[in-house]
Amino acid sequence: MTELDGTLTDLARLRSVGEPIVSLYLDVRWADEQQRERVRLFVQERVRQTLAHYPPGTPDRPALDRTLQRVLAHVGQLTTQASQAEKDGFALFACEGLGLWQPMLFRRPFAPELCTDAIPHLTQLARLADDLEPAIVVVPNQAGADLYEVRLGELAAESSLRGFVPRRDRDRFNPGAARPGQRFERQEKDGRHEEAFVQRNRRAAAAEVELRLARTPGAHLVLVGTAQNVAAFERELPERARARVIARLPRPREWEGAGGARRDGVVAGASGAVAEHERAAERRIVDGLVGEALRGGLGVVGPEDVVQAVNEGRVHRLVLEEDFQRAGWQCDRCTALGATRGADLCPYCGGDLHTVQQLGEALVARTLAGGGAVEVVAHANRLHGYRGVGAFLRQTAPTGLRGASPPWPTAPGASQP
Ligand SMILES: [Zn+2]
Repeated sequence: MTELDGTLTDLARLRSVGEPIVSLYLDVRWADEQQRERVRLFVQERVRQTLAHYPPGTPDRPALDRTLQRVLAHVGQLTTQASQAEKDGFALFACEGLGLWQPMLFRRPFAPELCTDAIPHLTQLARLADDLEPAIVVVPNQAGADLYEVRLGELAAESSLRGFVPRRDRDRFNPGAARPGQRFERQEKDGRHEEAFVQRNRRAAAAEVELRLARTPGAHLVLVGTAQNVAAFERELPERARARVIARLPRPREWEGAGGARRDGVVAGASGAVAEHERAAERRIVDGLVGEALRGGLGVVGPEDVVQAVNEGRVHRLVLEEDFQRAGWQCDRCTALGATRGADLCPYCGGDLHTVQQLGEALVARTLAGGGAVEVVAHANRLHGYRGVGAFLRQTAPTGLRGASPPWPTAPGASQP
């Protein structure tokens, strides 16, 4: 779960019956005029190609034309500005008829894409949300801990938890510590005394971290420091918080610097740990999904079975390969989706069908709109063998035995919002 979840769900519920929704993704890392020009040309060319599909006189053309001109103006302005500090990717969703104009900048670049469709194209945005899961970075110390919250690849908050630590030196000149033996005892006592404070500070920091984890569902924990400090801090965490630790890192030297260098170091350290965790998680997810599907559990693989599950509103988590490319159809009457080629009429309701060029985008939007999650995974042989798509299913209601229901439910679109 990330900051983007609400945005993704809201966008996924949009559907335009009039002029199409424009989805635009750009890589806005430009070092010179040539790169800016390339971005401008890409958008101009895609706008020209898009409008070519709407000859003058087509009912939706005037509104679409106005939206696209606004997009061109916005991109023109974006490319004349100095490079946005720490912003590498730009996404925009626009449709005049829906009153939609949503530009967004992110820390990670997108593959350039401008398309028009009845639905917004959300795969790239869903992938970003899923790859840049939030992380809480904890650097424990004697007084407590330094905390950093990294969201969508950016430092969102930083704070220092500081408790009291007594200074040993101050007490050492105490006249009571004059005799040699007593002095040794005194040091021992000071040591225990200090350790008690350090322990208390550690507990307070652990409690604060637990609170923040509860506030940020899906956030990972990254612990930074010496093995000893990290282990001592980790012992204070309850089991459920410890389960969210994805990395234990030594403190990099650049973190000792002040301000910008340290913040960049924190973001880089957290992003690296999250990316590595995500790659491993993707493999586990695909293995788990294929295993579940093969033993007839709560998982399906392959476009036909996934489309059916989406139509029935049963997808809990869609798993899609990043390069999934496939056309399908959608029913004009009941909005059911289909993956089969050459179908004439809707097998659910007998309605007319129209072609959906990017079935993947339709599956992503339908899943998100229904409250499901989307996991976009790197191209991997395991899922590719099932044509790049699968889905974990919701637990079916105890009364609705799987397999006992008719092959086509009467209104597949009915369970969709
Ligand atoms: Zn239908």
